[in-house]
Amino acid sequence: MSPTQKTGSKSLIGLSPDALKAALVAAGVPEKSVRMRTSQLWNWIYVHGAKDFAAMTNLAKEFRRLLEDNFTLERPEIITAQVSNDGTRKWLLRTGAGIEFETVYIPEADRGTLCVSSQVGCTLNCRFCHTGTQKLVRNLNPDEILGQLFVARDALGDWPSTAPDRKVTNIVMMGMGEPLYNFDNVKAALNIVTDGDGLALSKRRVTLSTAGVVPMIPRAGAEIGSGLAISLHAVRDEIRDVIVPINKKYPLAELLQACRTYPGASNARRITFEYVMLKGVNDSLAEARELVQLIKGIPAKINLIPFNPWPGAPYECSDWEQIEKFAEIVNRAGYASPVRTPRGRDIMAACGQLKSESVKERASARVARRSETAVREAHEPGPVDLRERSNAASPSERPGQEATTLEKIQSGQLARMPQ
Ligand code: SAH
Repeated sequence: MSPTQKTGSKSLIGLSPDALKAALVAAGVPEKSVRMRTSQLWNWIYVHGAKDFAAMTNLAKEFRRLLEDNFTLERPEIITAQVSNDGTRKWLLRTGAGIEFETVYIPEADRGTLCVSSQVGCTLNCRFCHTGTQKLVRNLNPDEILGQLFVARDALGDWPSTAPDRKVTNIVMMGMGEPLYNFDNVKAALNIVTDGDGLALSKRRVTLSTAGVVPMIPRAGAEIGSGLAISLHAVRDEIRDVIVPINKKYPLAELLQACRTYPGASNARRITFEYVMLKGVNDSLAEARELVQLIKGIPAKINLIPFNPWPGAPYECSDWEQIEKFAEIVNRAGYASPVRTPRGRDIMAACGQLKSESVKERASARVARRSETAVREAHEPGPVDLRERSNAASPSERPGQEATTLEKIQSGQLARMPQ
């Protein structure tokens, strides 16, 4: 559990059913009633999103008191909550000193996607990723991973889980960090996310993105069973070695072999290949042709991502015409790869930057940053009712295509964040 709970009590969020049972027994719940108590609690926590035990009105007072004395359902603390003018929301969350992470909600016409972080910082050092230049602070625990979903659903009024029009319909593990370097906690959290008696999201609506931790890919398929996205970004080892350094450990041939044998990949469940467009680095038309050759035989979709620049970044985004030509080759080979507009991609860099600052400053200038945040928040509009925002967004901003989720995470929505 996080060492972060204000009360010092154990959070029940993120415990597997067995661990929940064990916690109840340890707190003094009689063995004979523990099964029933576990399923009652599970329902309150994951179907109804109960924030405190007092709300659990069908439970005996004595049992509620026991829960209150021993446990908590506390969510991560919200440091900042921002809303873009089309309804995209971003939260900066905190569960302890220096433990800050972001989560982003992207509403679209036919779905609502939550982009979830798995680590604070990252070890991968991808050359084009600003967050990747930060050192790893630590892995997030299951309650902190799930806590991102709880914060979002609380704010969106998205309980109970059985409601017909759920606001968070999809989850992508595409926030900070490398989920396959935090396998056990990510698995524990996603198994709860997809549990039919609780949060009840279909595995088809959960996507895990990896830079290519090859040995863990088969385990992810077998033990998590979500959709898979690969941050490919290059078609030749000599380039990928530089921009996605984990490639030196697990080169392209091994990565693609793992994709070929990924359990459950099919035309209905395609593997997503993410490809950031870096001017003069990986964006030649020859590379577009190599890309389609490389993934031949793999049920795949390709997301071309215009590079989001950040101060000091060693790359530039490819020219727009080049991206279009690249996309045309990919499209002609039969892969949908809609080109996103460049609108606001700079602000995605600002998004990554915001996170970097909060971690870096935590050690040296925590107090200064917090007063700065307070000033910033005072000038920002408060949270708005997303349902209104969502209705106000123009359909052209919500094309409902496969690529738009990533597109929105990476660019447009955060561009129009009020400052
Ligand atoms: N570590 C995992 C999860 C992160 S997903 C992974 O690498 O897949 C975040 C996605 O955004 C990755 O595809 C990453 O390569 C991409 N990305 C990071 N920085 C970017 C930038 N400046 N511009 C565009 N895409 C970027």
